[in-house]
Amino acid sequence: MKTAYLTHSDYDLHLTPAGHPEQVDRLSVINERLSKPEFNDLHKLTSPMGTNEQVTLCHPESYVNYIKNSCPSEGSIALDGDTHVSAESFNSAMRAVGAVCEAVDLVLNGKAKNAFCASRPPGHHAEKSKPMGFCLFGTIAIAAKYAMKTHRLSRVAIIDFDVHHGNGTQDLVWDDPNIMFISSQQMPLWPGTGFENETGAFNNIINYPLKPEVDGQDLINAYKKEILEKVSEFKPEMLFISAGFDAHKNDPLANLNFSTDDFRIITKLLCEFAANHCKGRVVSTLEGGYDLPSLAECVAAHVKVLMEHAK
Ligand SMILES: [Zn+2]
Repeated sequence: MKTAYLTHSDYDLHLTPAGHPEQVDRLSVINERLSKPEFNDLHKLTSPMGTNEQVTLCHPESYVNYIKNSCPSEGSIALDGDTHVSAESFNSAMRAVGAVCEAVDLVLNGKAKNAFCASRPPGHHAEKSKPMGFCLFGTIAIAAKYAMKTHRLSRVAIIDFDVHHGNGTQDLVWDDPNIMFISSQQMPLWPGTGFENETGAFNNIINYPLKPEVDGQDLINAYKKEILEKVSEFKPEMLFISAGFDAHKNDPLANLNFSTDDFRIITKLLCEFAANHCKGRVVSTLEGGYDLPSLAECVAAHVKVLMEHAK
């Protein structure tokens, strides 16, 4: 089987102001990198539009309408200090939702072994009724709930290695006993949440703060020594990844020192875990990563490991 890769040129219609780190070029450099022959085996697909039924798995209808109605007819406007919408932002965020749900269908229907979604805007900071940190809808949490509702999975796990805390995902799964959420983040850093004592209503949220300046070995060791053991005890049937690459040493928004190879090793650990505990089922979606050359290399390394595990 193959690795599915879902993206769409319409993500480029989600516009942010000049100089904003979450920019159109992020997907351009990724798609350019993945056009190389070494990625010929990827099952490349265009992301479908998400549905109201999918997005309301996590967000109230009133919030969905708020995002839709906030989009200006031209230019972009700020919903908060970081988060902007333009004319097509609602559609882009809905398409990011459609991509992860399609990825879930492909993997659980046996059409792909695993999948990566290169989408914009990202999703892991969006809370139930609040856009935050460049994010409008909680894409990965929606995917997890969609997998359980549509494919009747009993338990799933979400791993978030973006340098920022996945506060939105945490908010969306806080009181769900069947979703385990593991987030590692630089601390202190925006958004200021993600302390170890934030464990969810059912004690199935793990927050792993990382001190500024550490490299990837710190997280790799934590995965090996404690975190993946706890995830295995939860017995998830599928693994979801919030793949942010802003812990990279070149990233302008944070102060960790992960190398591109650290992301390869992290992905390998997660794919090996999924092979042993989740029938290899992995759906990963892009979150942060703002140094364009590093972002392209990290996504290439991440996707290459997914492809190796799809054989
Ligand atoms: Zn981030």
